[in-house]
Amino acid sequence: MSFSVEKLLRENIKRLQPYSSARDEFSGEAKIFLDANENSLGSPLLKWYNRYPDPHQVALKNAISTIKNIAREHIFLGNGSDECIDLLYRAFCEPGRDNVIICPPTYGMYEVSANINDVEIRVAPLLEDFQLNLAHIESLIDERTKIIWLCSPNNPTGNSLHRLDIEMVLNNFHGLVAIDEAYINFSRQQSFVAELAEYPNLVVLQTFSKAWGLAALRLGMAFASEEIIAVLDKVKPPYNINQATQELALKALEDVGQVNDMIREIVDMRVALAAVFRRIPGVEAVHDSDANFILIKIKNAKEVYHFLLSKGIVVRDRSRVMLCEDSLRITIGTEKENTALVDALAEWTDAQY
Ligand SMILES: *Cc1c(COP(=O)(O)O)cnc(C)c1O
Repeated sequence: MSFSVEKLLRENIKRLQPYSSARDEFSGEAKIFLDANENSLGSPLLKWYNRYPDPHQVALKNAISTIKNIAREHIFLGNGSDECIDLLYRAFCEPGRDNVIICPPTYGMYEVSANINDVEIRVAPLLEDFQLNLAHIESLIDERTKIIWLCSPNNPTGNSLHRLDIEMVLNNFHGLVAIDEAYINFSRQQSFVAELAEYPNLVVLQTFSKAWGLAALRLGMAFASEEIIAVLDKVKPPYNINQATQELALKALEDVGQVNDMIREIVDMRVALAAVFRRIPGVEAVHDSDANFILIKIKNAKEVYHFLLSKGIVVRDRSRVMLCEDSLRITIGTEKENTALVDALAEWTDAQY
């Protein structure tokens, strides 16, 4: 068996006639637009917000293409990575019949989106060291397995998956391998985007929500073969990236320098914070992180969580998650916020020990 997008696709999607928007049917030069039932008089906001946005996000994709050094035909933009995740299910997974493999503890949306789409979830938990259990993954694959979800650096554990393990999956699985690289900018590892030519079954997800600091804009990216991108384009809502987001993201892309500065600063603080955590009594593990957060194991995590809350500090309690017993996931904050957190933790431990 070999990889074929055509074979993986849902039957109804193969047959799907995509929506053709007003802006799809017209191309060329015009001064008067009476084709899309917009309000021709304007808007209460910027004048041009009365017009539908570019459904193909050409300008934005060109800018991303330059920065990522990857042709526009290999780029899909979603209303957050979450939309990319959902669209992969809708295009490739037959509800009630197909299955996907996830490797928890990991990002929750792979499972939620599977459930929404009535797709069976098969679970190959990470090993104790939060790396892939390749033998277990292999044992779960059958002819109805469409996607294997890998998250690297992984949320909530923070580590990157071993590159050789990911390559093993890419080389041996004939469905899609979706690698979620939401935290790649904080990582010492290289993105798999550079490997697209090598692997026709590879889909890489990235986002503007983390390193780029633009979670509010809702902009996610999927990188894959032209064939896979064409499928996502066919299935997406026509105007899924709104005009404000397209404009603001374009503007942000002019300032990669500032983003890189922030990344460096966050990574430096991550290293410093990890060292501080290791000295706090009651902290049983500080997991190495390639992301902008740190997972720590701490005695009575639930009580610590509520104590921090009482101080006005919210962290993510992951103690009910598989392999994350008594664990808190802590996002790197500003210098001041990190200090407040450390002070609060010190206050808690002083009262305990
Ligand atoms: C935060 C995060 C995302 C981001 O999703 P958006 O919808 O782009 O905000 C995706 N994957 C993982 C693993 C995340 O932690």
